[in-house]
Amino acid sequence: MNIFDIPAFTDNYIWAIQIDNTISVVDPGDSKPVIDILKEKRLELKDILITHHHYDHTGGLLELKKYMSGTVYGPKNQNIDGIDVMLVEDELIKTLGYEFRIIETPGHTLDHIAFYNEENDVLFCGDTLFSAGCGRLFEGTYDQLHDSIQKINTLPEQTKIYCGHEYTLSNLEFVKSEIKSDFIKKKYTETIEKRSINQITLPSTLSIERKINPFLLEILPDDIKDLKAVNCFKELRIRKDNF
Ligand SMILES: [Zn+2]
Repeated sequence: MNIFDIPAFTDNYIWAIQIDNTISVVDPGDSKPVIDILKEKRLELKDILITHHHYDHTGGLLELKKYMSGTVYGPKNQNIDGIDVMLVEDELIKTLGYEFRIIETPGHTLDHIAFYNEENDVLFCGDTLFSAGCGRLFEGTYDQLHDSIQKINTLPEQTKIYCGHEYTLSNLEFVKSEIKSDFIKKKYTETIEKRSINQITLPSTLSIERKINPFLLEILPDDIKDLKAVNCFKELRIRKDNF
């Protein structure tokens, strides 16, 4: 699957899936960068996929409807203007011939969904999981976000994680302050190098995340590793919020 990023705002990524001269986009928070790419590369816009209602993921939707030929797929949330097909757990959609299964991932918001393509090991997970971190809790509970991330953690290790923001560096600063690991140190150095030349750090993979992302609960700070899983998750989220 050919996927490229369209940067938006300061640290958002709008993901574009491309076949020939047609793209579908995920979470267009802003229409302008998408329209610019359509013109610059002479591309056509087919479908739009939305992971959750936040403005930085949906803000370009109504304007882009004027340019697109397909369908807007998104969560079951009446408050998002412009969704054509509202999706729930395990529903299947097809865009550009690729099948995506819906995984409900409440926590960051209550309406949050992720799009998973098994054949190509691709996951668009919005603001649920980031590289070396996870979304803040705006609407859900710690239990919900913990369970959502554990659901993602059951996917195969080669799953590529396409998240909604470039937060890897600041996340790794937190992780390396909590956990001593040569792999985390190496990842931190690599990330500094990439970001110094404005290079993207995504997609990550689940196998990498299992070694650098404490929110998957596979690596943990020593002082909380004996806590019950969800309490451990809650403590980590609180520490990150205050970091
Ligand atoms: Zn969000």
